[in-house]
Amino acid sequence: MPIKVMPDALASRVAAGEVVERPASVVKELIDNSLDAGASRIDVELEHGGRNLIRVIDDGHGIQADELALAFERFATSKVDESSDLVAIPTLGFRGEALPSIAAVSDITAVSRHVEAQDGAECNVAFGSTPQVIAAGAPTGTSVSVRQLFRNVPARLKFLSSPTAESARVSTLVGQMSLIRSDVKFRLTVDGVVRLNTPGDFDHAAALASVYRVRDISTLINLTPDRDAAFNVSGAIALPSSHFGRRSHITIAVNGRLVHSYRLGYAVERGFQGYLPDRRFPMAVINVIVPLDDVDVNVHPQKTEVRFRREGLAFSVIENTVRSVLASHAPVRQFSEERVASSLTTSLEGAFARRRSLDVMPQIDESEEGSAGDSVGGDSGQPAESRSGDAEAPPRRTTERKAGSQRTSNNTASAGHREVLPQLRVLGQAQQTYIVAEDPSGVFLIDQHAAHERIKFEEIRAKQSAKSSESQLLLDPRVVELSPQRQVVFSEGSQWFKDAGWDIEPFGGNSLMIRAVPQVLAAKAAIDANGAEKALLHILDDISLPDSQSGLPDQMPWSERLLATMACHAAVRAGDTLTIESCEEIVRLLQDCEHPQACPHGRPTMLLLTGEALEREFGRR
Ligand code: ADP
Ligand code: MG
Repeated sequence: MPIKVMPDALASRVAAGEVVERPASVVKELIDNSLDAGASRIDVELEHGGRNLIRVIDDGHGIQADELALAFERFATSKVDESSDLVAIPTLGFRGEALPSIAAVSDITAVSRHVEAQDGAECNVAFGSTPQVIAAGAPTGTSVSVRQLFRNVPARLKFLSSPTAESARVSTLVGQMSLIRSDVKFRLTVDGVVRLNTPGDFDHAAALASVYRVRDISTLINLTPDRDAAFNVSGAIALPSSHFGRRSHITIAVNGRLVHSYRLGYAVERGFQGYLPDRRFPMAVINVIVPLDDVDVNVHPQKTEVRFRREGLAFSVIENTVRSVLASHAPVRQFSEERVASSLTTSLEGAFARRRSLDVMPQIDESEEGSAGDSVGGDSGQPAESRSGDAEAPPRRTTERKAGSQRTSNNTASAGHREVLPQLRVLGQAQQTYIVAEDPSGVFLIDQHAAHERIKFEEIRAKQSAKSSESQLLLDPRVVELSPQRQVVFSEGSQWFKDAGWDIEPFGGNSLMIRAVPQVLAAKAAIDANGAEKALLHILDDISLPDSQSGLPDQMPWSERLLATMACHAAVRAGDTLTIESCEEIVRLLQDCEHPQACPHGRPTMLLLTGEALEREFGRR
């Protein structure tokens, strides 16, 4: 056929396909419009999975009667004009495409009354016909009804799922939007039954409770945005006692726009790391608030993806916010107020320092207390900063350093000086997460995962540098197909994998064959081909993401990253029940570590409740 310009009707049906894929995409566009109109309540009605009817009613500012027909024209919008540079777009919509796209593939009626108008108007467009406007009585706001969706696009109709499945998609979507916009009251009615009704009281935790039917609202924690920061986070998370087999309970928004971002979702998971069992996912709604000109929202037809100027910053602000909320809600932190918390930190440092000086000068005793800083500095004669090039301890990322009092300092020891733990007597395990131990100075709570991670990290590293990494052959080698992203990661680091004890061969195309796994991974539980595959994929994913996101690629070299993720994989988890013997074993091995007080990611391995702090809390002094 010769080249011909498409007739308008055909062109608009083709264009509609970009925006309107299924009932849920219609609902999304209509809700976006309602939100842009400043609605405080939005009612969504659905019949027969959206094939018969999709209706969205809002109490927003409405549309002037004389503009109603225009709203259905392509590229007609009230949200941007020639003066807009498309760099900083504050509204959800801006393309002027949604209404005409929906109108091209359905019978659509909008009834609206503008806040400043006496009367309303009604406009109907059927499958791209010319808009017909008549006067109509209506409350302030807009109601859009979409009928017979895709009747003129059989291909689309054929690809729709069952009404139940399409309704489910819509419910998920409306749920997510109501989580993000906890200030708006959403109601969803499916075939006459109210499925969702959110309070719209500005409380993200309350929204989570109503969307996911959480009974105990005290397990849901609102995130408090730090208004002074350039990037900050609002939303809510569920404490790690709730977890799920899929990522479906993680909702991410950027400036109130629902986005699909695997990376930012992963930042949430990182924040929960160490708190959840293996391969379990948290419940969270996260709205990252960034300067408008920091994101490009014009990269996806359905606007569900955005591009960041500083994605690493978004990533770390999410991770750190989640982590610090979790840290402040952990049992011990709750007990310890700021005052106690800071005395905990300093006394832990004191305990290390005291012990170190005891090693040097065994005859000196209690008198060293309180002069920790001096004795450390005096011992080594080197500033703590000189550690930064030290390959022995992965430097903590700057973003984590800021957390200040939340965290035990990693810098207690100065260059080249080995940190020595006090001799601890293990009392048992608490919360299936912490080892409880004591020495004369007080009670120690040791995070079993963080501690074991540190142990495994140093063990793997020692073996690797001695070129004695042990491997365990798999009974049946496993062929694994890698996604392009994982291939890239693997090919970058294949030598490191080898050094760490993996035996992996190319197996044609995108596939690899795993013949053997490092002994450390096999030691935790007998590892089979499935386990090996899972471990490899997990490690590849874990290594790759932070690299591009943290913006600090050379701070943690590839080799260290592999070690850290392998250590994480090999370590016991929070939630694993440990016998007293394994607790003692962990403490003993931790005592042999070079840097026992932080895990490879820089989180503390232990907290000390000093005898004095306890006495003070109990009013004994
Ligand atoms: P866009 O949202 O990109 O501007 P749409 O096709 O979705 O394009 O809508 C076109 C215009 O119609 C909007 O710019 C807005 O002025 C108006 N409009 C649509 N829906 C509503 C609504 N629910 N309330 C108020 N105005 C609306
Ligand atoms: Mg719109």
